[in-house]
Amino acid sequence: MSNDDLVDSLIKMGCIKSRKVISAFKKVDRKNFVPEKFRNLAYSDSPLPIGPGATISQPLTVAFMTEALDVEKNSKVLEIGTGSGYQAAVLSKLCSKVITVEISPNLVKFAGKNLKNYKKVKVIEGEGLEGFEKESPYDRIISTAHVSEIPSAWFDQLKENGKIVAPVGNKDYQRLILFEKKKGKIVETDLGFPCVFVPMK
Ligand code: SAH
Repeated sequence: MSNDDLVDSLIKMGCIKSRKVISAFKKVDRKNFVPEKFRNLAYSDSPLPIGPGATISQPLTVAFMTEALDVEKNSKVLEIGTGSGYQAAVLSKLCSKVITVEISPNLVKFAGKNLKNYKKVKVIEGEGLEGFEKESPYDRIISTAHVSEIPSAWFDQLKENGKIVAPVGNKDYQRLILFEKKKGKIVETDLGFPCVFVPMK
């Protein structure tokens, strides 16, 4: 199996649709974001452990979230939960800047190494619930750890007409929700995608 085979299977499953997202996935080899002992599984459509309380998400989920986030060429994106850096790497092929916040120092190091050729991505060690005010406002925010509700800091740091995609729910069950800021108010859409993400610590 190759990275292209993985992308082709995601296209067949109907998870990636737009030409630009297909091209972003083809440019980022998932193998480079997976710990060495799981390299043989890099192109399987499954999440893989990357450390305590952290996984590199299932490719299908990364694909669905990337499509739903609808980033544009000049978007500035905030990601919460860097993990391996894979989601940030894919997003960086679609927009102008990705700021990604990770709470675990070990994963900040791991992602930093994986992302060394991705100049548009900046990894920040910090508390994701606070967003990252210094670089705000953002056009898009994506969370790859689940929350029971959206922290107010994320709304505050989102531009007008901006979008947030996040898994919202309890520890056993979440759904991907799209939040849009329209005239300063939040409009919520359930994307109909059930999932189980690691919790926000
Ligand atoms: N996007 C990642 C998957 C991340 S899994 C990838 O593509 O590989 C969720 C990540 O959220 C884990 O790395 C975990 O350490 C991180 N996390 C959990 N709680 C957090 C918090 N409060 N602030 C920032 N990151 C957090």
